[in-house]
Amino acid sequence: MGGVRVTSNSGIQVDAGKTRFVLDPKGAVSADYTFVSHAHIDHMHNPARDEKVIASKATADLARARGYDLGSTTEEVEGVELLDSGHILGSRAIKIADEVYYTGDASGRERGFLGKCRTRSARILIMETTYGSPEYVFPQTAKLVRQVNGLIASAFDRGRPVVLMGYPLGKAQLLAYYFSSWEPLFFHASVATMNEIHVDHGIKLKAGSRFHPSEDADSLPGGPWVMVAPMSSSRNRLMSHLRKKYGAILVAFSGWAMGAGYSRFLGTDYSFPLSDHCDYPELIKLVEAISPETVYTTHGYSSEFASDLRRMGFSARTLSPYQSSLSDYLKES
Ligand SMILES: [Zn+2]
Repeated sequence: MGGVRVTSNSGIQVDAGKTRFVLDPKGAVSADYTFVSHAHIDHMHNPARDEKVIASKATADLARARGYDLGSTTEEVEGVELLDSGHILGSRAIKIADEVYYTGDASGRERGFLGKCRTRSARILIMETTYGSPEYVFPQTAKLVRQVNGLIASAFDRGRPVVLMGYPLGKAQLLAYYFSSWEPLFFHASVATMNEIHVDHGIKLKAGSRFHPSEDADSLPGGPWVMVAPMSSSRNRLMSHLRKKYGAILVAFSGWAMGAGYSRFLGTDYSFPLSDHCDYPELIKLVEAISPETVYTTHGYSSEFASDLRRMGFSARTLSPYQSSLSDYLKES
């Protein structure tokens, strides 16, 4: 293997010997392989016809349901290892040529049906750093689930319905997993579609009733119920309707809820920091487990986290924004 080079080029380009990989490109690219880490929109693209795409089967199925045809994907490439990154169903980290480890989006803790990011040691680490700032320390998930169940119980006592909101792929299925003992239970159509693919992949999620916002907005029962819905502001037409007509309590779930004012920003009644990403201590742990010489950071607090890593003695630099070529920085040849 003739050395490894990492650059950013509409995605993260890794040249390992004669083989070029582009990781999570934003559009069709010229490469031997492209890698799609998971089926969130900001990590997907519509590949060219002859592109060889590395992705898990679940990612390909979820992508198709979201209008992205990844073609015939593969999980088996010589010199490549895919590892569960714990972020959402099907999300993978990738290890290339025994040297480069790319996290994609990753979580450092088990949640419901999701495991945590699996690691391998590697000389070069390319990592997401969405919450790479020390104030992001997420609470224990079990404690958060207890709090939310308490909140739903008190709403039910008062005859009030509750809308639990999160990204329709990933967060919504965790909410479905944690809070489906409440009845009646409704899933917004966009959530129900993603739930079905989870069930196809062996995740046990309760069926609930499918809620079509355009047809069913006036036919919900009076009194308490729970609905899992996409993240929306309270100014969203449907949400303000559910509030006015049914007295629904709006609850948002996101790692950003660690920040003061998140509920106010969305206009929701409550918000909880349930995240599918690593918090700050988990990011540090991830780096220690992989034990790299060089770290590239991307997303969120990428420059802050890179500078923290430099203080810890790592060679670290942000890959975003995709500025200059990094060849001057890299000593690999
Ligand atoms: Zn993601």
